[in-house]
Amino acid sequence: MDFKIAVIPGDGIGPEIMTETLKVLDKVGEKYGHNFNYTTVLAGGAAIDATGACLPQETLDVCKASDAVMLGAVGGPKWDNMPGGERPERALLGLRKELGLFANLRPAMVFDQLADASPLKPEIIDGGLDIVIVRELTGGIYFGERGTEAGTPEEGTVAWDIEKYSEMEIKRIAKVAFDMAMKRGKKVTSVDKANVLDSSRLWRKTVAEVAKDYPEVELDNFYVDNAAMQLVRGPKQFDVIVTSNIFGDILSDEASQITGSIGMLPSASLGEGNFGMYEPVHGSAPDIAGQNIANPIATILSAAMMLRYTLGLGKEADAIEKAVSDFLDAGYRTPDICGPAARAAGQYKTTSETGDLIAGLI
Ligand code: NAD
Repeated sequence: MDFKIAVIPGDGIGPEIMTETLKVLDKVGEKYGHNFNYTTVLAGGAAIDATGACLPQETLDVCKASDAVMLGAVGGPKWDNMPGGERPERALLGLRKELGLFANLRPAMVFDQLADASPLKPEIIDGGLDIVIVRELTGGIYFGERGTEAGTPEEGTVAWDIEKYSEMEIKRIAKVAFDMAMKRGKKVTSVDKANVLDSSRLWRKTVAEVAKDYPEVELDNFYVDNAAMQLVRGPKQFDVIVTSNIFGDILSDEASQITGSIGMLPSASLGEGNFGMYEPVHGSAPDIAGQNIANPIATILSAAMMLRYTLGLGKEADAIEKAVSDFLDAGYRTPDICGPAARAAGQYKTTSETGDLIAGLI
C-alpha cells in the first residue's frame, strides 16, 4: 500500500533521530511491500530561520494532505528570545489546534532489559510496567479564557485562567481511552479533582456515562493528588489513565520519569478518524545535538505507533517493537541507557549504528 507521511525533523537532535526512524520505516516498507512517501517540511526553530514563522502555512497544508505526521522535536536556546516573541514551541500548539489533535497518548513502559534505569525499587516495577496516559489536548485551562488586570491596591496585579470542559470534549477523549483499554488490560482510571472543581464533577459524570458502552472495562476514579502518589507507590495498578489537559501534562511527565529512560518513550496525538501526529516524548536535546549520540528509539517506537493507530499496520508495528526489544536483548545500548558493564563490553552504539542495527533486525 501507498502512504503519505509529512516529516518534520525539527531542531537539535530532531534531524538525527528522524533519519534513523525513516531508515527503519523504509526497511518495513521493503519487507512488507508498502511505500511510505515522505514530504519533509519545516516547523520550530528551523522554520523561524528559513521563513520567520515557526509554523509556515506550507507545513500545515502538507500535514493536512498526508495520512500522518512524524515529528522529531523543536526548540533550542538559539530561539529563546526572538524579537516579536516567535517561539519554536508555539509550532506544537499550532499543529495540535490546526490538525484537530485532541487526544495525546503517552505510553510509560519499563523495558525488562532496562529495569535498572528506573528510579523506583525493583519490587515496585517487577515484571515490567506498561501504562498509557490519555491526555485531553485541546481544551481545559490551557485554552480557556485568561486575563491579567490591575486589582485593588492591596492585591496588586491579578491574573486568571479558566478551566472549562464541555460534555462533547469529555466524551470524545473518554471514548479514546475506553477503546484503548479494550485492546489492552480492560481497565480505565479517570483522574480529576471532583472534590473541588465543577469541571471535574462534569468530567467524572460524563466518563461514567461513556463507561456504560464498555461493560467489559473496569472504571476507577482517582483524585489527581492521589494519582500522582500512586504512580510512584504502585504504578502497576494502572492500565489506561484518562485525564484533562493540565493534569495529563503533569502526570505524563511523572510517569515518563519512573521509566528512567526518556530516550525510549514514544507518543501519539490523535484527531477524529485515524489521523495522528507521532513524536518522541523528549525534546530537542540541544546539549547533545550533532554528536551522533542521541537515542533514536523513542522516535522509532513513535513510528510503530503510527503504523498501528493511523495506518492500520499492526503486524508491521509489532515488527518494529520486536526489533527494538531484540536490539536490547543483544546487549546494545545508546549512551543515555548505557551502564558501565555494557560500555566495558563494547556494546555502546551511536545514533546511526542504532538505526542500522534496528533496521537490520526487522
Ligand atoms: P530534552 O528532552 O530535550 O532534554 C532533557 C535531557 O534529556 C537532556 O540532558 C538531553 O540530552 C536528554 N535527552 C533527551 N532526549 C534524548 C535522547 N533521545 N537521547 C539521549 N538523551 C536525550 O528537554 P529540555 O532540555 O528541557 O528541552 C530542550 C529543548 O527542547 C527546549 O527548547 C524545549 O522547549 C524543547 N522541547 C521540545 C519538545 C517537543 O518538541 N515536543 C518537548 C520538550 C522540550
